[in-house]
Amino acid sequence: MAQRRRLVADIARQRISRLFELALEIYKTDLDLADRYVELARKISMRARVRIPRRYRLLYCKGCGGILIPGVTARVRVRSLREKHIVIKCLRCGRFIRHPIQLR
Ligand SMILES: [Zn+2]
Repeated sequence: MAQRRRLVADIARQRISRLFELALEIYKTDLDLADRYVELARKISMRARVRIPRRYRLLYCKGCGGILIPGVTARVRVRSLREKHIVIKCLRCGRFIRHPIQLR
């Protein structure tokens, strides 16, 4: 059973990555479709109970579920108050995401 779970999780992760890659290709010509891909990826993530891969985690809005593209649907600012972090604002629903930056 654990083996089956791993297989399901692997397939889910592959599909999630593929959907995000497709969304990043299509957003310039069809933003609605890009949003739809992100929505599907998140549904797969929930159904299969796998996390969205780290590199895609800042790519969607937790408020409206839309894709976040800097300069298109999102505004990104770097702030160094206290610890250094970036602030991403969704331009469609106004939600902010605050994300710390690790400096090594
Ligand atoms: Zn939003």
